[in-house]
Parts: sequence; C-alpha cells; structure tokens
Amino acid sequence: MSAPDVVPCPACSAPTFIVMSEGGNRLRLEPGRRPSGTVLPVTLPDGTERARVLGGGDLPAEGGAFVDHRKTCGRQKAGRPVRCPACRRPMDPWLVERGEAYHVGCKPFTAREMRAVTEPSSPAVVAGEGRPAGDEPTLDLGEAP
Ligand SMILES: [Zn+2]
Ligand SMILES: [Zn+2]
Repeated sequence: MSAPDVVPCPACSAPTFIVMSEGGNRLRLEPGRRPSGTVLPVTLPDGTERARVLGGGDLPAEGGAFVDHRKTCGRQKAGRPVRCPACRRPMDPWLVERGEAYHVGCKPFTAREMRAVTEPSSPAVVAGEGRPAGDEPTLDLGEAP
C-alpha cells in the first residue's frame, strides 16, 4: 500500500487520511492499525487500491486494522482540559463540575461587581492590586561591581 497523505480532519484536526472504499465512497481513516480498527486496504484485480470495511464476521481483524475516523471524530476534543480564563492554566475537574469557570483564587468579580464594572461610570475598578511595572523597590546591597 502506498503511503497515504495525512491530512488533518477539518472537524477535529486529528491526523487522518482519505481512501476510497470498494464501493467508491471516501473514507476518512486514522493512521496506524489498531485492534479496534474495521478497515483494511485491498487491491482490486486491476491493481486499484481500495479500502474494505470489515463486517462482524471478520472482526477483530488479525494484526489490527484502520479506524474509521467518523467513529472517533471529536472524542479527543471532549478530553481537552478546560482552562481558567484568568491564568490560562487547566481547571480542576471538581471546579468545572461545580460550574466554576475560574480557579478559586483567580475569580475576578462577583456577579454584583461584574455588573458594576460593565456600567460605563467605573472604568478603573480592576486597578488597586499590582503596581505598575518597574516600581519594584530596589535594595542596594552594597555589592561592588
Ligand atoms: Zn475529526
Ligand atoms: Zn486560574
């Protein structure tokens, strides 16, 4: 079998490749044979390479087979960690389960404060914490250069 061109799935960007099935349908497969795979390459009598979707009696395929990406598309996405919008670090699962979007220490405002900020009169509520850069106190330790 000639090496297939690996292209990212437009839906989930997992690496996939396209083959024609025996019936002439385009199949999006995942590279690498796996025990759970259901598609094997076959060569037709005229030399054309096609993919055969195995039926129940042929499964599991000996030596593995290619996985039809339609069966797994988007699964990886679900496992991607939710990130805190404030610090961009992954969220703790128990916080996500409680419906929290931020880490406990990252949560910027309560709902009432949020409303106050969105009102046009108070643009500088966020200020107060954190000095401007370069305002660190410098300690002269008397080290000679
Ligand atoms: Zn996909
Ligand atoms: Zn955070």
